[in-house]
Amino acid sequence: MGRDTRRFPGHEELWLYLKDFGEVFGLREMIRFNVRVEFVGMVDDDKDVDDNMKRWMVKSVEKKTGEVIEEVFDAVVVASGHYSYPRLPSIKGIDLWKRKQLHSHISTGCLILFVVVVVGCSMSGQDISIELVEVAKEVHLSAKSLDVPPGLAKVISKHHNFHLHREIESLEEDGRVIFVDGSCIVADTFLYCTGYWYKFPFLESKGRVEVDDNRVGPLFEHTFSPFLSPLSFVGIPRKLIGFPFFESQAKWIAKLLSGKTSLPSFDEMMQSISEFYLAREAAGIPKRNTHDICDFNYSDKYADYIGFPHLEEWRKELCMSALLNSIENLDTYRDSWDDDDLLQETLISPNSLLLRKGKRHLYR
Ligand SMILES: Cc1cc2nc3c(=O)[nH]c(=O)nc-3n(C[C@H](O)[C@H](O)[C@H](O)COP(=O)(O)OP(=O)(O)OC[C@H]3O[C@@H](n4cnc5c(N)ncnc54)[C@H](O)[C@@H]3O)c2cc1C
Repeated sequence: MGRDTRRFPGHEELWLYLKDFGEVFGLREMIRFNVRVEFVGMVDDDKDVDDNMKRWMVKSVEKKTGEVIEEVFDAVVVASGHYSYPRLPSIKGIDLWKRKQLHSHISTGCLILFVVVVVGCSMSGQDISIELVEVAKEVHLSAKSLDVPPGLAKVISKHHNFHLHREIESLEEDGRVIFVDGSCIVADTFLYCTGYWYKFPFLESKGRVEVDDNRVGPLFEHTFSPFLSPLSFVGIPRKLIGFPFFESQAKWIAKLLSGKTSLPSFDEMMQSISEFYLAREAAGIPKRNTHDICDFNYSDKYADYIGFPHLEEWRKELCMSALLNSIENLDTYRDSWDDDDLLQETLISPNSLLLRKGKRHLYR
């Protein structure tokens, strides 16, 4: 920890942090590397056994040897992430377009001197565009609205090769890209920054947990299946402070599986889920954004179920302050800010003091 001490450290630091975390807590020996889970399903599905008592068959494949391993478990926690299956837009001509089409989950290092169309103007689209504009011949960013955040508008105005467009009307076989306002360019490459699908291709839950328009459900508090309490999920919610939230999910699941707590009744869980869906609908949030939380209070409410600490005020303020800075100063917010007072508070927080004393075994 602390090798890259920048406020926004590089990805290598994050990797090292995870490696350290695994070692400090003795997790490495519990992880089977290079083993892919191919199937998870209930063993006693056809028998007259209570759904909550059913055991789980897990079939996995050892990547190097191809050996297939079949094991039976009492419970399954799905933590397979949700940044693997690209969500592509439906654009007229997308199948006819013969040139390169990539999604943001692929490295974009090969686009030097290309004319690139970046589709999608959320975090990935903005981040990738401002990096690409330094090396690509032209970057054409296609957004739902031309009314973009001021930080992005500033970057666009600084680069003659950076252009903002409305949505795409169609792609043509000869490489032309036609936008809804009738303007047209010829491009070499399409880079879709249009998000991801939740998918669990290995999971056979017989309809008890399904993905419908990117809503994974029904899940009580985005974590537990009311139908199958031994099946739980970590990491489904987005747009919250991830690490502490996922830790609180893991703690809740561990407490449940070790018999230290129990879930509300089936009816109560279903009621809570339907109230949540109704509230989202009333707020005009599309189904596909069901798991976009955007609310610090939710983390605290979740923590209260198991007595997990609330997010510290300084952490919430720091997060908001960095977010606002990024909206205004997209290309500089990682290196320049005016919230040093908040940063000082971070440095005197108990976590930070412990880390600086080198007590790595007391991470949280
Ligand atoms: C470009 C980008 C930038 C981000 N920046 C930030 C940031 O600055 N701060 C932040 O807090 N978060 C950030 N996030 C989000 C963060 O990466 C995720 O919240 C976090 O990785 C989720 O952790 P996870 O363990 O749930 O899933 P993952 O990190 O995706 O891990 C899932 C693991 O499951 C494995 N797996 C999947 N399927 C199988 C299978 N069938 N069998 C065996 N193993 C399987 C995968 O190989 C992977 O190792 C970013 C995400 C992206 C895409």
